[in-house]
Amino acid sequence: MIQRDVSLRDYSNYKIGGPASYFSEANSKEELIECLKEWKETGLQKPVFVLGKGTNLLISDNGFDGFVIRNSIKGLSKNGNLITTGAGELMSDVLSFCTVNSLSGLEWAGGLPGTIGGAVRGNAGAFGGETKDSVFEVLSIDINTFEEKRRANRDCLFDYRYSIFKGEAKNEIVISVSLELKPGEKDLIKKLTEERINYRREKHPMEYPNIGSTFKNIRKEKIPVKFREELMQYAKDDPFPIIPVAKVLYLCGLKGEREGDAQISEKHPNFIINLGNAKYEDVIKLINFAKQTVREKYEIELEEEIMYLK
Ligand SMILES: Cc1cc2nc3c(=O)[nH]c(=O)nc-3n(C[C@H](O)[C@H](O)[C@H](O)COP(=O)(O)OP(=O)(O)OC[C@H]3O[C@@H](n4cnc5c(N)ncnc54)[C@H](O)[C@@H]3O)c2cc1C
Repeated sequence: MIQRDVSLRDYSNYKIGGPASYFSEANSKEELIECLKEWKETGLQKPVFVLGKGTNLLISDNGFDGFVIRNSIKGLSKNGNLITTGAGELMSDVLSFCTVNSLSGLEWAGGLPGTIGGAVRGNAGAFGGETKDSVFEVLSIDINTFEEKRRANRDCLFDYRYSIFKGEAKNEIVISVSLELKPGEKDLIKKLTEERINYRREKHPMEYPNIGSTFKNIRKEKIPVKFREELMQYAKDDPFPIIPVAKVLYLCGLKGEREGDAQISEKHPNFIINLGNAKYEDVIKLINFAKQTVREKYEIELEEEIMYLK
C-alpha cells in the first residue's frame, strides 16, 4: 500500500510542497491499521505524519523524508442526538448531515474547510464556537502500538486551538469522532450555516489558495500596558477576550506585502495567499517579516496557527 516519492502539492490547500518519501491513503480503520503494520515492517526509523485535507499546513518544497498517511476514513451515522463520523469526513459533509437530520450546534463551522479529524486535533473554532463544544467522544489509534483509545471530551484537554493530540497523544491518529448535538429546526440550521459560508466568501480571500489564519489571535493579557488604550478598542470575545491579529497586522501596514508569489492578503491580512507559484520560503519570509514588524511596533510575539511539514 505504501507508495514512494509522492508529491504533496496537490494534497495541500496551498498548492505548495515537495514529495513525501513514503505515502499512503487510508479509507477505513482497517486500511489504516494495515498501513501502519506495513510501515512497521519496513523497519525504517523515519517520522510518521497524518494528513487531513491540508487546509492548515505549510509544506516544505523539499518535501518530507518520512511516511505521510492521508486520513480519508469516511462514515456518518446517527443515534438520537449523537452523530459519529469518520475522522476523514469533511466538515462541510458533517454539516450537511446535521442539517438533513435537524441537529443543531455546529452551525458556526459553516465554511470551515478540512476534515473533522483536523478540527478535533486543533480544536478549530470561529464565530465564538469551537469544535470542543460538540465533541462527545474521540476514538484514536497509536501509530506504534496500534492500540485504540477512546476519550471523553474532558480527557481531550481541549484549549484554544489545542487538544491532547497536539501534546501527549501526538503519536495517535484520530479515527472517529462522536458529536453531541441538539434537536433543531432544519431551515434555521441551514440558514445559520449558510450565513457563515457567505460571510467567509465575502471576507476571506477564497479566490486564492491559502491555509486560513496564519497567526493565532492575541490574548488580551499579552498586550503591553502602553498599547492597551490603542488596541483594546478592537477587543472581542472569540471564544474569550482577544485582539484580532488581522487588525494588528493591518495597523502595522502589512496588508499587501509580497514576497515572490506569496502575499499578505489585501482582503484579510491574517491570510497569506498564493498568487500562483509561491514557494515555501516566500511564505516563511513573510511570516518572519510580519512577526518582526509586530514585535517592533507593539512588542507582541505572534504565534503561528498554521502547522509546518518539513
Ligand atoms: C479558508 C480557510 C479558512 C479557515 N478558517 C478557520 C477557522 O475559522 N478556524 C479554524 O480553527 N481554522 C480555520 N482554518 C484552518 C483549517 O481549516 C482547520 O484547522 C482544519 O480543521 C484543518 O483540517 P485538515 O483536515 O485540513 O487538517 P490538515 O491541514 O491536513 O492537518 C492539520 C494538522 O492536523 C493534524 N491532523 C489531521 N488529521 C488528523 C487526524 N485524523 N488525527 C490526528 N491529527 C490529524 C495534521 O497532522 C496536522 O498537524 C481555515 C483554513 C482555510 C483554508
